[in-house]
Amino acid sequence: MNTSSDRVRVAIDGPSGAGKSTVAKRVAEAIGADYIDTGAMYRAVALKLLRDGVDPASDIDGLVDLLSHTDINFTQGNVMLDGEDVTSMIRSPDVTAMASRCSAFAPVREKLVGLQRKMGDAKSVVMDGRDIGTNVFPDAEYKFYLTASTEERARRRYAEMTEAGGVADYREVLDAIKKRDYDDAHRSLNPLQRADYAILIDTDGMGIEEVITKILSYMGNTD
Ligand code: C5P
Repeated sequence: MNTSSDRVRVAIDGPSGAGKSTVAKRVAEAIGADYIDTGAMYRAVALKLLRDGVDPASDIDGLVDLLSHTDINFTQGNVMLDGEDVTSMIRSPDVTAMASRCSAFAPVREKLVGLQRKMGDAKSVVMDGRDIGTNVFPDAEYKFYLTASTEERARRRYAEMTEAGGVADYREVLDAIKKRDYDDAHRSLNPLQRADYAILIDTDGMGIEEVITKILSYMGNTD
């Protein structure tokens, strides 16, 4: 097991569609760390809320009760909710909207931030999300903030959806990204913001490989 002196925590924050997950996964592979997709954890809670019909806005006791018997972890890159692999179920528009809504509630954040800190205490991690550098690991060894213009992020999301065989409307995708940006940046608890000293990478016009190389070179790993 790593000791605290040899484990490394890499925080990659930024708005949706900035390319965080692809980049974070590859950086984790390159440095031999675990990749933790914290957005997937909020999505797993959202899926459970939808399945159990609990609306956090009107049923805070129901939310707290649900969280008290919720277990989320990653097994070989898959998102496990109470022992069930929910990886392919947490990307629907309903779950996306509920993930953004429920992430504003303190019991949800406390539960998930607690789990995330445990994951990063145990071993080296590359964690992507909205509040990793500001809140989960303010003392992370490396912090990056990835962003891109709203239009570029909407174009990427639209391409992902249509390439996967889905039907999408660019205008709707753009509006949904704008709404999530606003909600994520304006909630009172751990809003999306660039951490002090986080290295800003604007990925507009950059390819994935270029972003990964840039991050690894900042970390002194230029292989
Ligand atoms: O990154 P992803 O789009 O999967 O995240 C889903 C939602 O989870 C975000 O819109 C955000 O509201 C929430 N989230 C968060 N804090 C994180 C990661 C995600 O509040 N660290």
